[in-house]
Amino acid sequence: MNRFLYKRQVYLDNNATTRVSKSVRRVVMRVLKYNWGNPSSGYFMGKRAARIIERARQQVADSINAHSHEIYFTGCATESNNAVLKTLTNHFYPQKKKIISTPVEHPSIMNTLEYLQTQGVVVQYCPVDNYGFISIKELETLIDEETFLICCMFANNEIGTIQNIKEVSALAKSQNVLVLCDCVQALGKVPVDVKEFGVDYATFSAHKLYGPKGVGALYAKISSPLEPFIHGGHQEEGMRAGTESVHNIAGFGVACKDVKNLIAYSEKTRLLKEQFIKQLKVIKPDIIINSPTDNCLPNTVSITFPNINSKELMMMLDYNGIAVSSGSACSSQLNKPSHVLKAIGLSDKEATETLRISFGKETSERDIRYTIKVIDNYLKNSR
Ligand code: PLP
Repeated sequence: MNRFLYKRQVYLDNNATTRVSKSVRRVVMRVLKYNWGNPSSGYFMGKRAARIIERARQQVADSINAHSHEIYFTGCATESNNAVLKTLTNHFYPQKKKIISTPVEHPSIMNTLEYLQTQGVVVQYCPVDNYGFISIKELETLIDEETFLICCMFANNEIGTIQNIKEVSALAKSQNVLVLCDCVQALGKVPVDVKEFGVDYATFSAHKLYGPKGVGALYAKISSPLEPFIHGGHQEEGMRAGTESVHNIAGFGVACKDVKNLIAYSEKTRLLKEQFIKQLKVIKPDIIINSPTDNCLPNTVSITFPNINSKELMMMLDYNGIAVSSGSACSSQLNKPSHVLKAIGLSDKEATETLRISFGKETSERDIRYTIKVIDNYLKNSR
């Protein structure tokens, strides 16, 4: 009778996207209302819009310790990843033919690599262990004279694993190989410093850090090759033509201004995650945690519920107002077990018994208590 009184709305899928913050919303609305000029126009309105873009570029650059000249705005991180993989292939192929990657990358990398293979590129995947970590020794054995790029994400979107990207870059540099690092899930959760990482390219997406959808960024080190990836006008130094989404770019800048605060806050998120796992183990002691304890995103946990179908569990949680996912949002429509879970050694059955929970800055202890209660009721009823 009082189900609807009791029902809360709990969002535990912050790796899929995040709720746009108030400060971002404010700037986006302001730009839409007052600064709708074309940034390429030579008169005052255009100049004002262009200044907004340049301010945002500086804000994005500051949040990752880059120079503003090294930042290109794109439509999303998928585009940024495509841009690097395809333009570098254009640049090096057929003199050099090989890209080395990992089997736990986001579909925006995996499917682009699959496409490039049809064009003659050789792709090799460095195996990962049961927590998704690559081995630098194995990576080293894969590099040869044909290799032009190592493509390795910093933080995994499904299990939260954080790779030792500094070691990857040091190895790549010693072999004269470039590095592309997908940092989409890391920005705003753990420190990202592209100079310290030593990567040549890094990719970002505003909507993962409380910014708007429809805008991403590509960091390309000044000395690293990059070719135009959308041909047309002179925008983005001629690399990515097309009139800029000024309001989204402004929103991205403001979101990046908040990165330090978000990282400081993520300690609280980590404690919430630990609390959640502890309480879950009380009501279902046989759960398996697929995420590593150390070197993991503070907000992310992948959990296998033995003998419980995760689709059914997700539907039940959804019915009770709780949003979680079984993996990457970009693969959620596919009825295939997650390639990440398979790569870390889960069977098909285990992969279909797995949920990804990703907390955010708005997650509260009450949300956790409610979620545990709902799962507990479900387990009791299904017994
Ligand atoms: N890379 C990772 C690790 C992601 O998690 C995502 C989005 O889920 C992307 C890339 C793609 O980002 P976008 O939605 O901006 O295309």
